[in-house]
Amino acid sequence: MKQGTKCLHEGYKGKNGEAHALPIYQSTTFNYDSSEHIGKLFDLTESGFFYTRLANPTVDAVEQKIAALEGGIGCMCTSSGQSANFTAIMNIAKTGDHIVSISTIYGGTFNLLAVTLNKMGIEVTFVDGKAADEEIQKAFKPNTKAVFGETIANPAIAVLDIEKFAKIAHKNGVPLIVDNTFATPMLCKPIEYGADIVTHSTTKYMDGHAVVVGGAIVDSGNFDWTNGKFPEFTQADESYHGLVYSKDCGKAAYITKARVQLMRDLGLTPSPQNAFLLNMGLETLHLRMIRHCENARAVAEFLESSDKIEKVSYPTLKSSEDFGLCEKYLGGQGSGVLSFVVKGGREVAAKFIDSLNLTSNVVHVSCVKTMILHPASSTHRQLSDRQLVECGVDAGMIRLSVGIEDIEDIIADLKQGLEKL
Ligand SMILES: *Cc1c(COP(=O)(O)O)cnc(C)c1O
Repeated sequence: MKQGTKCLHEGYKGKNGEAHALPIYQSTTFNYDSSEHIGKLFDLTESGFFYTRLANPTVDAVEQKIAALEGGIGCMCTSSGQSANFTAIMNIAKTGDHIVSISTIYGGTFNLLAVTLNKMGIEVTFVDGKAADEEIQKAFKPNTKAVFGETIANPAIAVLDIEKFAKIAHKNGVPLIVDNTFATPMLCKPIEYGADIVTHSTTKYMDGHAVVVGGAIVDSGNFDWTNGKFPEFTQADESYHGLVYSKDCGKAAYITKARVQLMRDLGLTPSPQNAFLLNMGLETLHLRMIRHCENARAVAEFLESSDKIEKVSYPTLKSSEDFGLCEKYLGGQGSGVLSFVVKGGREVAAKFIDSLNLTSNVVHVSCVKTMILHPASSTHRQLSDRQLVECGVDAGMIRLSVGIEDIEDIIADLKQGLEKL
């Protein structure tokens, strides 16, 4: 199946007389005839559902669909994008370990890494995604356990050189984790370029309608956990009666461990109801992404031609330093989010946003409706000016998430706003 067909057909198919649409299994638990059968489920010698914190048929169908779209061997959905990135890292690193992360990442993830993981004793070194290999290599330590980056950074709109970072990570014996939220598997499948683990905030394009918060972790099945750096994968897990993930779960070691150890203990579970809504979003992801890309490209070109605008960041623009990376990794498409700086700084930016009619002023992106946000006064508010610069955020920068409305209406709204400045 091609990607668009997978959006519709992967994960669930009703058999003779069964529901055509994905059923919502609104149940915490599942019936079995014998204790022996339940014992086998716990031993992982038989597969089946027993408790929704760990797995649920509705959620499972969506996980299969996302794994297929990303070309991975397994997926685990989580309650949010934050919990996906948290779990993806905690599955590999523990107190005393170290992570290398590209500095231009989502503000929430920056906090997770720089503050919360730090409190838990996991140290993070941030590197410039554009730095030379030798410079990036200096960030690695003997206790480094992973490299983290975003395909298209939110909100800096920087495109990650996935192959370059995969190569450096593998040279150091650690996996590359890529947050593919903004690109979605419609524009880029990071596993094809060497990423080992792919994460998502499904809250964004995958849902696409601003209705459910959620996350996902996809395992490529390609990373060798037996290279000596990851004893938790090669030694018996006493909390799971002696399971050795690398031996007993084969290629699915990482994603199985994430579920039976971390989902079991942390309970960052998505609800079946939310999984159903996410699945509805996924069914049209391929169509929506085409329109988001077309509209955002037109808006980027319109803004760049205005004398009221200082700078537009969008990777399909010839002026973008990421133009080449966009051609290579995103098929020349830039997704739906762009950022720009209005001449006159912070106050003029606020005035512009307040004068818009069609465009919603919200703390969200990647939705069917056009949305606008000022990161420095909202999502990135907690960061110092220095941290803002490190994240690639200008204090006067505006982030625009272009929806799938008629392009004439989107541009007319922006145009009347600019004319008032
Ligand atoms: C929104 C976002 C997150 C966090 O996801 P939530 O679903 O809001 O928890 C993580 N990474 C990126 C790139 C995001 O855009």
